[in-house]
Amino acid sequence: CGIIGYVGSDPMPAEDVLLAGLERLEYRGYDSAGLAVADSALEVYKRAGELSALEEAVPTDDVAGPAGIGHTRWSTHGPPTDENAHPHTDCEGRVAVVHNGIVTNAEELRADLLESGHVFESDTDTEVIPHLIEASLERGLDPEAAFERAIEHIDGSYAVAATIAGSDAVYATRRHSPLVLGLDGETTYLASDVPAFLEHTDRVIYLEDEQFVRLTPSEVVIRDDDGSVVEPSVETVEWDP
Ligand code: GLU
Repeated sequence: CGIIGYVGSDPMPAEDVLLAGLERLEYRGYDSAGLAVADSALEVYKRAGELSALEEAVPTDDVAGPAGIGHTRWSTHGPPTDENAHPHTDCEGRVAVVHNGIVTNAEELRADLLESGHVFESDTDTEVIPHLIEASLERGLDPEAAFERAIEHIDGSYAVAATIAGSDAVYATRRHSPLVLGLDGETTYLASDVPAFLEHTDRVIYLEDEQFVRLTPSEVVIRDDDGSVVEPSVETVEWDP
């Protein structure tokens, strides 16, 4: 039920941004939590239950990278188990995805993907997304195009964020589920709600429905669903913590 992510030029310890951000999203309710940090490889940790279970699973200080995503889950498809917690990955463990909402055509998509050889590890609707991204990467699309192609296939409501091993980028989009960006000059944050990153910055961009964003250490590029680049309006939020 909550998403947090970041991209920065310095590898950030997962604890500082992701675990801290998930704690600030706890008020939204959740039954499981997880995070992924991308560097040359992906590191993924996820646990059913309280955030303290995830905290125990993450090796202190060792998990850091230029890009990361985290999630608190409120189950809709599949019980709260470690396997069903997000992030979900593709077969190769190259693509990590977190998702809030429901993919209403997940069953059909899963059947098609199973037929073409994809192996699933969870009961969630979400897991089709990393496999769709993988399928597009295998067809030669670049990561951003692969992400967009995957989203084109899904119906329902979502806030989705993905990161890919070997990249320092986070790709995200939303439809009927909130996503907001935070900018502090060095690091870009992404969350379902401002409190997740408010200790780092109060300069925000509210993503609109059906917009796509690519976050890298050097830029934030927002595009409408027709592909045109949008000039974002940066707001300063006032928030009583
Ligand atoms: N539908 C997804 C699941 O059951 C995401 C739920 C959520 O919004 O946390 O895993």
